[in-house]
This record gives sequence, C-alpha cells and structure tokens, in this order.
Amino acid sequence: MSAFNKYYETVKHWWSSVALPVARPKWLNKLSPKFKKVPLSLPSPTTLIDGAPVKQEQSHACPNYMELKLKFRDIGRMNGIMEALGRDFLTAMPEGAYVSRLGQIAFMARRVHEELANQSLATLIEKSHTHEKKHNKQWDKWDSANLYEMESMYRHHCKVKPELIEKLAKLSYEGRRRHRDILKNNDWDSAKPFLSEMVTLQRQLAESKCLQNNKHKTESAYQALMRQYIPDGKLDDIDVLFDEYEKGLDKLLPKILDKQSKEEIPLPLQGEFPAGLQLWLNKSLLKVLGFDFTRGGLYETGHNPVEGGTPDDTRLVIKTSDEMNFLESMKSAMHEGGHGVYIQGLPRSEWRYQPVGQDLGAAVQESQAFLVEMILGRRKEFFDYLSPRIEGLFQRFGEDYMTADNLYRLKTRVKPTVDRKNADEVTYFYHIKMRMELERDLISGALSVNDLPDAWNAKVKEFCGVEPDNYASGCLQDVHWFVGKFGYYPAYALGHMMAAQFESRMTRDIQNLPELLSMGQFKPINTWLNDNIHAKGRLMGSDALIEEVTGRGLSAQSLLNHLEDRYLKSA
Ligand SMILES: [Zn+2]
Repeated sequence: MSAFNKYYETVKHWWSSVALPVARPKWLNKLSPKFKKVPLSLPSPTTLIDGAPVKQEQSHACPNYMELKLKFRDIGRMNGIMEALGRDFLTAMPEGAYVSRLGQIAFMARRVHEELANQSLATLIEKSHTHEKKHNKQWDKWDSANLYEMESMYRHHCKVKPELIEKLAKLSYEGRRRHRDILKNNDWDSAKPFLSEMVTLQRQLAESKCLQNNKHKTESAYQALMRQYIPDGKLDDIDVLFDEYEKGLDKLLPKILDKQSKEEIPLPLQGEFPAGLQLWLNKSLLKVLGFDFTRGGLYETGHNPVEGGTPDDTRLVIKTSDEMNFLESMKSAMHEGGHGVYIQGLPRSEWRYQPVGQDLGAAVQESQAFLVEMILGRRKEFFDYLSPRIEGLFQRFGEDYMTADNLYRLKTRVKPTVDRKNADEVTYFYHIKMRMELERDLISGALSVNDLPDAWNAKVKEFCGVEPDNYASGCLQDVHWFVGKFGYYPAYALGHMMAAQFESRMTRDIQNLPELLSMGQFKPINTWLNDNIHAKGRLMGSDALIEEVTGRGLSAQSLLNHLEDRYLKSA
C-alpha cells in the first residue's frame, strides 16, 4: 500500500466514525482528486461479533429497512443521552444546573420526536412492509418484529405536536423537583395548579394518540395514555382480570387477617442501621441477583426513584435510606435490581438501539421487579440466606428480631395502610385499583383536580378501610402524576400477576429453587429469566410471551394461589 493510500485509509476510517454528516472542511478540498472522491456519508462503523456484523448494522436485502435500522440506531443513541441526563439530574447534578438541564432534556425529547414523527420515516416503513410481503423469505422473525415495533413507535409520535412533547418533557422533570418539595411541606396549594396543568397536557397528548392509532380508533383517552407503558394493554381485558383478582382477594384477605391475628406479632427492628452499611448490603444483594456492576451501579437520591437506564449503562436509583429500617432500602434495591437485571439481559449486542431490542414495557418490567422483590425476595428461604449475613454486617448477633423467621414474618405481615409503597403484598392491589379509577376520572373529566383530595380519601376508606391524616400521606404520596405518568399504575398489578405466573412455571423447571434461594444462588434463576424473557427483547408481544413461557394467557389465578400458599397454608 502506498503512503498516500495508507493515509487515505486512515482518514477514511476517521471520517466513517463521524456519526453525523458534516460540512466538508475546506482543507479537504486542497487534497488530491483521488481523495476528493471520498463520499460524504460513508456507512457508519460496523460492529463485529466473532467476525460477523451485528444485526443492527448488518446489511439487509431491503435498502429501505437498512436505512430505517440506521435511523433507529441514532434515535436510540439520543434516548441513551436523555437517560444519562436524567440519571445525572437525580444523583449528581448541582442545584445551579437545574434550569439549563430542564432545557436540555426538553430539547432532546423534541429532537427524538422530530426524528420519529416525520413523513420520510413513514415512507420507509411503508416500502419496507411492501418488501417484506413480496420477499418474505429475506425477512427473519427478528427483522419483522423490529419493523413492527418501528411502526408502532412512529404511530405513538406522528400526530403529536413537537411543542407538546417539549412542554411535557420539561414539566415532568420539573414535576420531580416540585413533588419533592410539595411532599415535604404537605403543600396542596402548590400541587393543585401544577397537577391541573399536567392533566390538561395529558388530555391533549391522549387526543393526538387516539388520532394516530388506526387500530384503536374508538379507544378512550386513558387507554391511549396507558398504551405508552403497556403496549398490548386493552382496558376491557384489564378490567375483567382485575375484577377476577379482586373477587378472589376479597375472600382471602379476611381469612389472612384472622389467621395472623392469632399469631405472635413479629418483633420490630431495633437501633440504627448505618446508611453506609445499608448501601453495602444492597450492592452485595444486587451482585447476588446477577446485576453487572461493570455496566451499571446503585445510587441514592433525595427524589423519588425512577426505573430505567440502558443495557450498557443501567444506573439504579433508590431513595436515601432510613437508618431505622434497613428493610426499606433493601426492598427498593431488590425491586430496582429486578428491573436492572432485565434491562441488562436485553439483546444488546445484536440489537442495541433497535426497537426489537427494547424491553416489553412497564407491565413486564414490573413483573421482573415484583418477582425479585415480593415473590422470591419474601420467601422464607431467602431470609435463611440473609439473616446470618446481616447479623454480621450490622453486628447484631443473636438478636431475636434478626432471625430468618422474624424477618420473614415482618415482611409478610398484612395490615391495610394508607401508603402504597409500604403496603404489604396482599393489600397492594387495592392501592393500584383506586389510583387507576381516580386517574381514569381525571383524564375523562369526571373528576377535577380540585376535588382530588376528597375523592382520594374516600377511595382509601373504601378499599383499605383507613384514612390519611394529611395530603402528603394521601393524594400527594406518589410521584407518578407529577411526572406525567398517567396510565402507568395498572402495570404494577399486571406485573404482580405475571410474576406469580412466571414463578409457578419456573418452580417446575428449577426443582431445587428453595435450596438455591437459601444459599443465595440466583444464577439458575437468572439463566431461566434470561432465556425465557430478557434475551427475547420485543421479539413478540407480552401476551404471546406469557403464553409461550407459561403455556397459557395471563390470569389472576397464579397470584391468588401464591397468596393462599404463603399466607394461609404456611405454618
Ligand atoms: Zn418498578
């Protein structure tokens, strides 16, 4: 190779690593004619796995689809940048950067939206569909699923005005900050105008989403919002499922309360559990769960935590720990850990930024979190593993309240409360059901924000038989509405049901599950979850996935069985 060619290759390589086409620098024009032949937009660098390009960048028989893959790769990169900005907002950003950060996040949200909601993308999708129909053999199932997801992302955005996206992105991060202060000060007067503005914008968003989805022309505004989080979600089906579960629960709860009223009350924790040691415990537990710290971390925040992150940068955030109760931060870490292991297990090498490589939405996300936090993480065997270790960590040798049996009974004690986050596993559903009913009414207009506190209190009384003392322990306790998450709540209850259904299948496949838990060996559990759920990304919808993994569609029965086994049958 001549010296010039060598130089040419080097520059070509450098040029190809520039992600965005840029103006040709002047000095380039002075070079030889041969050099000038370098095309302005060389293909982006190809990532290789074992010598073969990853699917994201592998050329495809349909050039329009190939172009789509590169566009979505760049959209994914922008989403990754937004995620990183959001994590930083929660954990490290200096106060003085607040205003500029809101602007940065809103700008990025608008840019992502502009990339998604444009006609050229729609044309490429349409042409790719034509190619797929004509040359079906050239499309494997991953590519077809990817194209389907590209279209649904486009549909979520195409009729929404960019100004609305920008406003909502800004307001939702402002909402995190506002909620923190409002909660501290029990400040309903400040919450009211903020929530009113948010509800108005959410209604506008729902209206645009209803317009764009030709598959759900008659859907309600609330369902349109819910589908952002639960892509397969149909309200009618969810109502049937929730009714079935509620009926079963209404029968179980009095029996459980009666049984527990005759048992010894578990001993409360005593003394202080230093925050540093709690963080150490939580990080150790995440390691045990299989969380990869070379691609993520665990951080604390004064804000309410959020789930999320990307497979290469999964930074879990939990609330600053309460030194009187290590079980609280441990619960959050296990919950976020379930999310984190799912995110890290997505098919990132092959499909890093492609829609098919993403998680299946909030309900499946929550199923992974509930499986770890509530279903597996509250089994007696898990406390057998935990108890001697925390006795050592916190230096509480031989204390009765640190025994596996006492910790298990503490975590499975059922008592209706006003507080969702500290609710027990049995009454948790009532908190979701009442929130779902209230937010449906807020979006439809049947309930005004002004009347929310009274409506809230009436619902808690109806479902849990208790009443909050103030706004902070009532309608202001959750961050969701402040960050614009209307339609997210059903995902918790659906996720809990899925978790129980997955676990019942997993117990059949991994027969020594209890022994493994008592030794803290999560590897076989992780492998099962990865093979059956995580590594599949969005290859199929959540309904199809549940059916494939468990042999039947989602029902409330597994969760009811689980509650009966744990709370009524166990000694
Ligand atoms: Zn969660």
